[in-house]
Amino acid sequence: MLQDPQGRTFSYLRLSITDLCNYRCNYCLPDGFECEGKAHSLSLDNIAILAESFARNGIRKIRLTGGEPALRRDLSDIIAVLKQTPGIEKVALTTNGYQLSRHLSAWQQAGLDAINISCDSLDPRMLKAIIGRDALDDLLSGIDQAIESGIASVKVNTVLLRQYNYAQLDELVAWAAEKPLTLRFIELMQTADNGDYFRANHVSAEHVAHHLHSKGWVETLRERSAGPAREFSHPNKVGKVGFIAPYSKDFCKSCNRLRISSQAKLHLCLFGDAGYDLRPYLHADKQALLDQQVAALLTHKPDAHHLHGGNSGATKHLAMIGG
Ligand code: SAM
Repeated sequence: MLQDPQGRTFSYLRLSITDLCNYRCNYCLPDGFECEGKAHSLSLDNIAILAESFARNGIRKIRLTGGEPALRRDLSDIIAVLKQTPGIEKVALTTNGYQLSRHLSAWQQAGLDAINISCDSLDPRMLKAIIGRDALDDLLSGIDQAIESGIASVKVNTVLLRQYNYAQLDELVAWAAEKPLTLRFIELMQTADNGDYFRANHVSAEHVAHHLHSKGWVETLRERSAGPAREFSHPNKVGKVGFIAPYSKDFCKSCNRLRISSQAKLHLCLFGDAGYDLRPYLHADKQALLDQQVAALLTHKPDAHHLHGGNSGATKHLAMIGG
């Protein structure tokens, strides 16, 4: 089991398979993806080696993210490789919903267990203002298809933004309440690229939690191993509402996740200073070295991020690492 000096254990790996993104979310990549002459993203073989190593060391769930993972033509193959890795119990995907209806059944056949779909508004003009695309109809039919597909877990990720979708909070909750899904509000995080935007748009998750309480939503107790997300349910509603609240007290104490970028760098914290290059170890004859290296690097995992002081480390935007 991978463990850090604070005693936190790690069962969850977030694996970015591309930096490339086709949307221009105004809090993340407002000018779109910029290719900075980077090396190739992880290959299928690289991914297989990483999955085997992390599974040997206690990782049980892998989430594919990006950039936009759906832009990888071999996404079904990647899912299948992860699913067939001994020890991996759950393969999940975070996507902006691009061509979801077209690909979902192939991803499911390959073994996808859970999907998080980003949807920042139910109003077409507002959505376009936030993500830079006319995508609402496709997005909503992709979400409905995911529900109908019977996939074990469907979550919808929404970043609440004071100057944009915050006024639609009740509408979003009412929509989710009637569907068998979890609407997950992600508190806007400051990155190196979005400082002014952050100051104008950050909405505290605590504020939203109070609002939900006042409407009869009740916080569900979760096991410590479930990670830092908080979840609310309502006695008369099928849907659930959750939070990722990185600015809340003790958020990092329940950290159960590690991250690898599409450039094969291990990130011990989403807002750390550097990623550690694992590429030299991604060879069939270096697996023991890879295991040793990861265990050794974990001793550098910081206690907590420093977002409260406006320090987002080397993270220019979340598309770099996968959020
Ligand atoms: N392209 C995929 C997507 O849109 O879901 C996966 C990558 S994206 C970086 C993962 C999640 O991070 C999305 O739900 C996105 O809204 C969220 N995100 C990006 N930048 C963020 C920020 N600065 N603060 C909070 N959430 C952010």
